[in-house]
Amino acid sequence: MTTAILADPVSKLHDPGQGHPEQPARFDAAIRGLPPDALTSFARREAVRAELALCHTADYIRLVDREVSAGYLQLSTGDTQVGPDSLEVARSAVGTVLTAVDLVCSAEASNAFCVVRPPGHHATANRGMGFCIFNNIAIAARYAQARQGIQRVLIADWDVHHGNGTQDIFYEDGSVFFFSTHQSPWYPGTGHPFETGAGPGLGTTLNCPFRAGSGRKEILGAFEQKLVPAMEEFRPELVLISAGFDSRINDPLGNFLLSDQDFTDLTRLLVLIATKYASGRLVSVLEGGYNLSGLEQAVRAHVNGLESTLETCRPMTHAI
Ligand SMILES: [Zn+2]
Repeated sequence: MTTAILADPVSKLHDPGQGHPEQPARFDAAIRGLPPDALTSFARREAVRAELALCHTADYIRLVDREVSAGYLQLSTGDTQVGPDSLEVARSAVGTVLTAVDLVCSAEASNAFCVVRPPGHHATANRGMGFCIFNNIAIAARYAQARQGIQRVLIADWDVHHGNGTQDIFYEDGSVFFFSTHQSPWYPGTGHPFETGAGPGLGTTLNCPFRAGSGRKEILGAFEQKLVPAMEEFRPELVLISAGFDSRINDPLGNFLLSDQDFTDLTRLLVLIATKYASGRLVSVLEGGYNLSGLEQAVRAHVNGLESTLETCRPMTHAI
């Protein structure tokens, strides 16, 4: 297995302001968690408008353009602070994730992890919120379908916050399965078990909310007992991870208790799902994670899981 690690230092130019938890130092913390010489060399690119439009409305793309150019400190759509470089950085984050999709779908890498800022999973088609400008992972799913001939995509989201934007974008789309474990009640207030999709998407949204203080038993349990059986029917051709590490113990923005070993085990379970149904194709995208030393350690554990061989995965997830 070869794991591609994509990280674009331009992401440090997105500055939500002093004291903000989604800070440029998160990038350095994540990089410290990588094995030596882990970074994959790749041509950096910014997503073009047509790629952003795979998930976002033309009006919203114009709004971001206009407000960042005008020097707004926060998008008018919600709680997302921006600076003068935020548009370039947000487009680069999407571009990096799309490059990872190309690498994995062309079998140049077995799987990939993208260290990107800002996060994306709260951004809806027409609204930036929750520190997110563009929905990196949602655009990756649509791009894989449009450009790489992938039909069915799983997005698994273990961030402590519900990925309301991702859910919203695919709520009526049965070709993208959205699975989320998250703290509830908590920001942004969505992600109830009765939110299961609509129309052609009915049954391809699966929410597993848990109280503050939940950890391995609840979250790994949900992945094993809810997600694994659901994938037997859905059979994804690409697995995407919204890898938020604010579900780790001691995060300032969450109250879950996941350990670094838990992140390795969650990762291995998803590697197994990808191996079984998707020829191993898996792209993981950084979302939250606001304790800097915790982020470093969780990234180390996550990449360790991505680099697992099938043999080391197998004993752990006998369920599939
Ligand atoms: Zn989060």
